[in-house]
Amino acid sequence: MIPISKPWLRENEKRAADEVLESGILAQGPRVAEFERAFAEYIGVKHGIAASNGTTALHIALLAHGIGAGDEVITTAFTFIASVNAILYTGATPRLIDIDASYNLDASQIKAAITPRTRAIMPVHLFGQPCDMRDIMDIARRHNLVVIEDACQAHGAQFQETRVGTFGTGCFSFYATKNMTTGEGGMITTDDDRVASRARLLINHGMRVRYHHETLGYNFRLTEIAAAIGIEQLKRLDAFNARRAETAAYYDEHLANVRGLELPRVMAQRSHVYHQYTLRVLPAFPLTRDELAAALNARGIGTGIYYPIPVHQQAAVGEYAWTKCSLPRAEECAAQVLALPVHPLVTNDERAYIAQTICEIAG
Ligand SMILES: *Cc1c(COP(=O)(O)O)cnc(C)c1O
Repeated sequence: MIPISKPWLRENEKRAADEVLESGILAQGPRVAEFERAFAEYIGVKHGIAASNGTTALHIALLAHGIGAGDEVITTAFTFIASVNAILYTGATPRLIDIDASYNLDASQIKAAITPRTRAIMPVHLFGQPCDMRDIMDIARRHNLVVIEDACQAHGAQFQETRVGTFGTGCFSFYATKNMTTGEGGMITTDDDRVASRARLLINHGMRVRYHHETLGYNFRLTEIAAAIGIEQLKRLDAFNARRAETAAYYDEHLANVRGLELPRVMAQRSHVYHQYTLRVLPAFPLTRDELAAALNARGIGTGIYYPIPVHQQAAVGEYAWTKCSLPRAEECAAQVLALPVHPLVTNDERAYIAQTICEIAG
């Protein structure tokens, strides 16, 4: 089976993890500090604050901006539930808007969603493609809104030559399937000294001076072993992303003429890092999305459906009034999307087999 995702770990990662074990310093040591510096430098910001995962990074980023009960945060309905859960953890209310042809939140719908309670916009750079950060930052400035970027799928992606995670407060995940991994892990990126200091405080029990707790905090720290692996993964991130882009270009070329498949659309001024290569299986295709997935799986090709249910239709949030909305594009995409293996360990032979198999199925 060609898996839909697979982390690429080598001797460097093993050696780095082993050195941490040998050192006996497993928490709050030099590796976390080094990983924070290296990641911040790579993204192009002053501060990196490591977190236990992408969800806690989002939660802390919102809290560090003082967002909580009574506030509203505008985000997309077509995302992993963690984006919206992080908003709910703070007591704030999500305001979901629909997506455009890039699967990202449609920036032209933000203005209509702004109310006197709106405090923030959370663009999600879905599948590795940046949102329209020019329009989003413009609206945010005019309405005095905070921007929290969910960049959990977009390590290294650029909008107009600038990396995501630098426009607003950036939040990244290093979960096992992401473009770079530490197993579980996360990072907040910011140029704002106050936000950085507040995030650092909240991630470590509200404590700056040992056992003096200034505020209700959390233990959302990253481990030394995770950070050591992250330092090695970061060195290879550009190579990983380049290989993903090359495989995506291969699919673009070899699936271009298949009737009934809509290939990923890369909008102007974006560099896409292809966390996922997501197709839409349209009614003109001879099989339904689920039939195509089953046919590929039967031929040894792993696929993914991200995401089968938009956030506002999830059982977990069904009780909330803000879910009572109709977001037709998100709903339609949820029924049609299918992701193909695009991770850097997919070989040239495998991607040729995948494209050829799809063409055969399409007739
Ligand atoms: C992975 C992911 C998260 C959460 O990250 P975890 O590390 O799994 O907690 C949040 N948002 C998006 C869009 C993600 O893909």
